[in-house]
Amino acid sequence: MATQLTGQRMFLAGKWVKCDRVIEVRDPQDNSVIDTVPAASAEDMKKCIEEAKEGAKTAASMPVHERMKIVNAAADYIEKNAEKYARTIAREGSKTIREATKEVERCIQTLRISAEEARRIHGETIPFDQMPGSENRVGYYYRFPIGIIGAITPFNDPLNLVAHKVGPAIASGNAIIVKPATVTPLSALLLAEAFAEAGLPPKVLSVITGYGSEIGDTLVTHPAVRMITFTGGLDAGEEISRKAGLKKISMELGSNSPVIVLEDADVEEAVESTVSGAFWAAGQNCLGVQRIYIQESIMDEFEKSFVERTNQYRVGDKQSELTDMGPLINEKEAIRVEHLVNEAADKGAYILTGGERKDAFYSPTVLANVPEDCTIAKEEVFGPVVLLYPVADLDAAIQKSNDVNYGLQAGIFTKNIEKAYKAIAKMDVGGIMINDSSDYRIDAMPFGGVKKSGLGREGISFSIQEMTEPKVVCFKLTND
Ligand code: NAP
Repeated sequence: MATQLTGQRMFLAGKWVKCDRVIEVRDPQDNSVIDTVPAASAEDMKKCIEEAKEGAKTAASMPVHERMKIVNAAADYIEKNAEKYARTIAREGSKTIREATKEVERCIQTLRISAEEARRIHGETIPFDQMPGSENRVGYYYRFPIGIIGAITPFNDPLNLVAHKVGPAIASGNAIIVKPATVTPLSALLLAEAFAEAGLPPKVLSVITGYGSEIGDTLVTHPAVRMITFTGGLDAGEEISRKAGLKKISMELGSNSPVIVLEDADVEEAVESTVSGAFWAAGQNCLGVQRIYIQESIMDEFEKSFVERTNQYRVGDKQSELTDMGPLINEKEAIRVEHLVNEAADKGAYILTGGERKDAFYSPTVLANVPEDCTIAKEEVFGPVVLLYPVADLDAAIQKSNDVNYGLQAGIFTKNIEKAYKAIAKMDVGGIMINDSSDYRIDAMPFGGVKKSGLGREGISFSIQEMTEPKVVCFKLTND
């Protein structure tokens, strides 16, 4: 049965429902309205949580082979309709069609890995007889689903970052309620469509569209919701952490990722990789390259080549296969980035290229000589701006890389294994890429940050650990 509905309905406990109030979804490229979605109320959210109580029981009682079948069927559906999914991402979000197509491929992978991991939710036997007096006890622990999970997601990967939560939640037998970013709800609704088509029982999944400021608190504070998995910015993450109360929280937050380029590196490869890492999704990428520390002896060569490569970037129509970079998510965000760059320029930074805004578009921008007291030197820019710094040696590069409040991922380009190992040991991050930029991720790896970049790890099997709890079983035997 086709339950496909996009735009004007949200997916509440297995039903496609409307609300009186709607939210306009706009294409950031020209600010045109492309669709509307319901603006759910706190009452809608409460109803959804009530329904999810039943959904959690249904989900927990689904055998693993059934969960695997459904999650794989959702992946099949997306694969069959990949073009529609990619066009939606590239329409409501700021990704180009090439970037959106990659996101759809990643989403299919995310779901396939989730289905596969469902069969690996293991426990262990426990040697109770290690404790004197417990010789007659045998037992084990197994993992059981936590119940209802609330998922709050950002705009920059509007499909795959939702799949990162929905895939493992369903694979591990939980019910899940998703509140997607208000500016990009359509891709999340398409994910719900895939699960509806795949035969997921009602009430296991809801995708509720609405403003975080209006329905967020209800989801976050409700005692029946046993876990909040959040991906987004630091401010919202901290507020949610304060309000959540006694429940699990997983926080995937932002960063201003560093990359170190030492003098023995392949400069051409380092430039190619860091340019891509800086400007992917117009820099609206939690792993985006923001700060590059280049050994002084190769600074001129690197800088020249980096600016040349940046100037080749084609900025424009997202739907064209030829476009390298689209707009930011809206004009307000582009103005925010413009202010950050202007502040740095006023304090003495050089704009080597870029620094121009037109509506929501901000040109790929390279800065040098950025004083340490600029906001952009310490905070996440979340836009297409990269800062180049010369450094004397690896120690200085590591010290500067670590001198911020974030630590998601980092990269280092060197052929020297000792230096790579030093960076691995000394850099305060959740992941470090050797001879690559910070912007590398596959969906099976543990992903998350230190410091203000987050708490907990995503990546399917790691999410499943967070979304399940161990239950101990102990048999007391008679001595006969
Ligand atoms: P955001 O403004 O923090 O919003 C993220 C989500 O949180 C949205 O759905 C938003 O709803 C909701 N929200 C905001 N305030 C809330 C509250 N008080 N209670 C409940 N929900 C609330 O982030 P964004 O601008 O969409 O995304 C950009 C940020 O995400 C960047 O900092 C980026 O680095 C980070 N990010 C991190 C990762 C990672 O894996 N570490 C991945 C991608 C992005 P509304 O849309 O209705 O406001």
